[in-house]
Amino acid sequence: MIRRVPPTEPFEVERHLSKNEALHGIHPDDTYLKPGRIPHIWCPGCGLGVVLNAYIQALKAREIPQDRASVISGIGCTGRAAGYLNMDTYHTTHGRAIPFATGLSLIRPELSVTVLSGDGDLFAIGGNHLIHAARRNVNVKVICVNNFNYGMTGGQSAPTTPLEARTSTTPYGNVEHPFNLVSLAAASGAVYVARWTAFHARFLVESISEAFMKPGFTFIEVITPCPTGYNRPNKLGAGLDMMKLFREKSEIHHGLDPNEAELDLKRRIVVGKFVDLEKPTFADGYEKLMNGDPKRA
Ligand code: SF4
Repeated sequence: MIRRVPPTEPFEVERHLSKNEALHGIHPDDTYLKPGRIPHIWCPGCGLGVVLNAYIQALKAREIPQDRASVISGIGCTGRAAGYLNMDTYHTTHGRAIPFATGLSLIRPELSVTVLSGDGDLFAIGGNHLIHAARRNVNVKVICVNNFNYGMTGGQSAPTTPLEARTSTTPYGNVEHPFNLVSLAAASGAVYVARWTAFHARFLVESISEAFMKPGFTFIEVITPCPTGYNRPNKLGAGLDMMKLFREKSEIHHGLDPNEAELDLKRRIVVGKFVDLEKPTFADGYEKLMNGDPKRA
């Protein structure tokens, strides 16, 4: 039987104000960040701040208190987000965010459990976990930051690196075909699938807040600039240049078959909400099984 845990007291943190905070006061969103963990390690022009902020704004939009939300991440630049958020978070080993989140979501169903991790972490070493959690329809919200490479470890190629793109491990151009993440998530069984870029900050907030309300496995891909690892070898300029590119090349196509959601930085980036359907969750199936057969209870 799934255990329901009574509400706890809201999060309270003891803060030592920085000089700037003492002068100008605390930003209202600062309570969502762990005092002492900022400044962050992300490079100038990186898209990760946009994603972290979108997550916080979506929590606020849905009035989800910090003690009712949990973020699990794997390894990599995106994985640092779990360490910055002022709530119960867990920074797992490489590729293992989804199994940890699965366990947490089953034992604490009242929590909003989000996996915030990178394309390399979720689709390379964590790929099997992701497809099976989607197939089972585990109640986990996945936000996958796709910057086309392993940024933190030196800009190596990842399962999302575009064909012919240059990375530190493909200096003459990548010969492997990349995954289409939204297509893979949808084919695996996700009940909600969307893609945005860091340029579409407001759409992203809306999408995350929609996913919060959707029982089951939801998947949101966010295309972000990685000026250090990916832009440099591919001569894509700074973070701002990438945002201009996102603005120029993106097309919104809600409801499109995710197989047709093209992602080509030179041609077009198809964004939007592609899948939104209802289906019993993994926990629903277990509840039904346990309640329906008295011998199993
Ligand atoms: S290496 Fe790339 S992804 Fe990592 S913090 Fe720097 S810009 Fe962001």
